[in-house]
Amino acid sequence: MELIRTLHKQINEDANLIIFCENKILYDQKENSFIFKLNDLNSKLVNGPYLAIAESKGHYFYSLDISSSEEILGIFMDPETTNFIDLINIIAFLDSKNFLLASRASILNNWNLNNSFCSYCGKINKFDLKEGAFRCDCKKLLNYPIISPCIITLIHNDERILLGRSKFFPPNMYSTLAGFIEAGENAEQALKREVAEEVNIKVSSIEYHSSQSWPFPSQLMLGYKCKYKSGEIILNDNELEDAKWFNISDLPNIPPKTSISGKLIHSYIEDHLKL
Ligand SMILES: [Zn+2]
Repeated sequence: MELIRTLHKQINEDANLIIFCENKILYDQKENSFIFKLNDLNSKLVNGPYLAIAESKGHYFYSLDISSSEEILGIFMDPETTNFIDLINIIAFLDSKNFLLASRASILNNWNLNNSFCSYCGKINKFDLKEGAFRCDCKKLLNYPIISPCIITLIHNDERILLGRSKFFPPNMYSTLAGFIEAGENAEQALKREVAEEVNIKVSSIEYHSSQSWPFPSQLMLGYKCKYKSGEIILNDNELEDAKWFNISDLPNIPPKTSISGKLIHSYIEDHLKL
């Protein structure tokens, strides 16, 4: 599969459509799929131009936004099992190819919506096909998709790991700490600052693990492990409802292995058990 970023005036019958309405994604629970064909839908509501985001063997994938969720379903589709849902509810259960497609479709859909007009002069932006970016002639600046880098880190101290929970998490769910990288910071500085701000802990031995796109709305999570150095947990800002040390043999509910947080936790436990 090749990642592309272009606008098409028309789409073929075999086009793969990923459809959003008010920031929710159309999902078929019976088929466990968020990819639809034009024939499945009430095609009168699927208007162009169409934002192509990927191509595989001559078949295009498009990210489309519709203004009203009513009547998009074709006559053979069951509204009981196909409807608009929050992407966060399915993203952790997608395989890597579908994760990439859903994440990319959501990020580029927001980029498309947010760049209809020039932010300097207010005129309608043009789409530069060569660059795959929006532009206006007034400043000749190109508006590419914006990805916001964030750190996410597992803090360890031998058999114990530090996890926190936000009030939006399901009951007894704890996760690794995360935060946006500030302008001018490098990732390691952001990690130290975020950990100190959120839980009043100093850390050392920062080690990069892996990264993951996180389209809420457009983060790139850079995953690290780091070692506890000093300090007692104090919840310094309002981001976390609770944070605790957990023994790795007695963990609360944690995010699934498909998320970077779950990966960091499982990877630490596996490494620790080998010692
Ligand atoms: Zn302009």
